[in-house]
Amino acid sequence: MPSAPPPSPSGRWRDVAHATGLLAPDGAVASTVFAEMSALATRTGALNLGQGFPDVDGPSWVRRAAADAIAPDAEHGANQYPPGPGIPELRGAVTAHQRRHYGLDLDADTEVLVTTGATEAIAAALLALAGPGDDVVTLEPCYDSYAAGIALAGARHVTVPLVPGPDGFRLDTDALRAAVTPRTRVILLNTPHNPTGTVLTRTELEAVAAAARAADAVVVTDEVYEHLTFDGAAHVPLATLPGMAERTLTVSSSGKTFSLTGWKIGWVTGPEPLVTAVRTVKQFLTYVSGAPFQPAIARALADDAYPRELAASLASRRDLLCDGLEAAGFGVVRPQGTYFVLADAGPLGFDDGTDLCRRLPGLAGVVGVPVAAFCTAGSPTARALRSWVRFTFVKREDVLRDAVARLAALAG
Ligand SMILES: *Cc1c(COP(=O)(O)O)cnc(C)c1O
Repeated sequence: MPSAPPPSPSGRWRDVAHATGLLAPDGAVASTVFAEMSALATRTGALNLGQGFPDVDGPSWVRRAAADAIAPDAEHGANQYPPGPGIPELRGAVTAHQRRHYGLDLDADTEVLVTTGATEAIAAALLALAGPGDDVVTLEPCYDSYAAGIALAGARHVTVPLVPGPDGFRLDTDALRAAVTPRTRVILLNTPHNPTGTVLTRTELEAVAAAARAADAVVVTDEVYEHLTFDGAAHVPLATLPGMAERTLTVSSSGKTFSLTGWKIGWVTGPEPLVTAVRTVKQFLTYVSGAPFQPAIARALADDAYPRELAASLASRRDLLCDGLEAAGFGVVRPQGTYFVLADAGPLGFDDGTDLCRRLPGLAGVVGVPVAAFCTAGSPTARALRSWVRFTFVKREDVLRDAVARLAALAG
């Protein structure tokens, strides 16, 4: 008997696919450019500087703690549902971390929620706080899950450009003031910023704070790279600005800080009513997260040495890759933080970063990701950054040296 075609899916997936560039105008579903570039690296043997995950795992004692939590002979293994908001040890470690680093005082019982990575915290916050008829304002370019989360919530995505100049990619504060209106329910910020590597200055953050207060909007700040800054650039959490703690949800995660991106232990902190709203949604997305990883991350969070050493090592790897990209002929904006550098291929004669990324394995045996993947399709920022490519430097030094040697081929 011939089987009938499956019913056509008619939910929000189409909005998500559209918002993330997965849906071509003719309705065909494409793969993400991230998946395309990683497949290209695998197929061609090119060095993958596209996807941002470390090729060296985080501290062995932290991994041992997680292994102990599920060891067959463990007397009280962490194998069952942990408490909904997260285990008390981890919530306590998060509040101690926020106090020690930023002077922020939080109630571990009501103002902290453990999530399945920063990704779930952001998605749950958007679903909790925004809906049809609401605007959510983000920087552009921005992390690709933001557009998807905003589409899931049914809200409208409004963007404010980061503009390249002699001081790096800086916030266009005039555009910010124009973008934030009484329709704005959420400003979704990210500092240190992926993909530009910008660490927003206090002055830039004050502009965001003023706009949020004027619109009575909530700010959700994604601070997953909080410890990965270079050259003394200081990360300032928006919640530390006067009058902002009461309207800010701060999101972070252990993935980037401890080179454990697969563990997906994140958290969100802020005033009780906002955290409760996020928790209400999270409750029915995943209920709880990563039982055996929570005690390990609780202990890791008390250790400031590993992130400090990682940042120092990343700073020198940044220099290695940036010098190589410059020698190859790219226009480079040196990042102040994160795993990533943006490079302009315009000076090399390439005006389309997506096209260049498809050809780069053949030209130089290296893979990057076009900055267009972090922009709204067809936006002014997407046009302005059309020739730009993102490369990661969170790879071993020998891999980066190899990449730099290969990229030299572009200089001709
Ligand atoms: C990697 C990344 C995330 C995802 O964090 P998880 O904890 O893995 O979910 C969120 N935001 C930004 C900007 C990132 O680069």
